[in-house]
Amino acid sequence: MNFVFAPHPIASVPIAGSEQLFPVRRIFCVGRNYAEHAREMGAADQADGREPPFFFTKPADALVCGVGELPVKYPPLTKNLHHEIEMVVALGAGGENVPVDAAQSLIFGYAVGLDLTRRDIQARAKEKSHPWDMSKGFDHSAVASEINPTSACGHPRTGRIWLTVNGQLRQQGDLSEMMWKVPDIIANLSTMVRLEAGDLIYTGTPAGVGPLQIGDVLEAGVDGVGNLSARIV
Ligand code: MN
Repeated sequence: MNFVFAPHPIASVPIAGSEQLFPVRRIFCVGRNYAEHAREMGAADQADGREPPFFFTKPADALVCGVGELPVKYPPLTKNLHHEIEMVVALGAGGENVPVDAAQSLIFGYAVGLDLTRRDIQARAKEKSHPWDMSKGFDHSAVASEINPTSACGHPRTGRIWLTVNGQLRQQGDLSEMMWKVPDIIANLSTMVRLEAGDLIYTGTPAGVGPLQIGDVLEAGVDGVGNLSARIV
């Protein structure tokens, strides 16, 4: 290949119990997928059932991942960096217009993730109907634990999802509270874009999002998936 400079390395995530790495293609995120969090963000209650899920993306190279305490850079241009604990779905196969009953078979594994958000920039973007990219897709905005393959963890659909900051519980919910379940999310997203092996999907956060400071230590987990540890530097 005759590139003008060396291509950047492919982002990858370690796999629990394996020497192999999961090569990342795209990172998708679901907005407002737990009712309590939708309420804390000021979204109206949905009396007549669910609105369709909405999605945004982060660049693959925004990932900070692995085992142990992950150093995460506090980003520039914000005074309100928020944590959002989320279960992450890692796809081992893709497709378009995937039926809901076929969606689960595309999943390679699950991870514990943080969808870090510059909440002040996001608030200005919402106000002006501007895009969310710079509030959601900055460097180090996507944090992930190693991936737990479905061969080891199955498909967790209930279980506690939680996050502490400096030992204090900040976020807590249960996977069963997702408004759009994992197979629905995959099926819906696959109507918009073709999904492929290597795609990660952040599945939304429970209530309790809040600000982080430099020096904060985060511990988080999803029952049946694993744990994540990070420090803001
Ligand atoms: Mn989120």
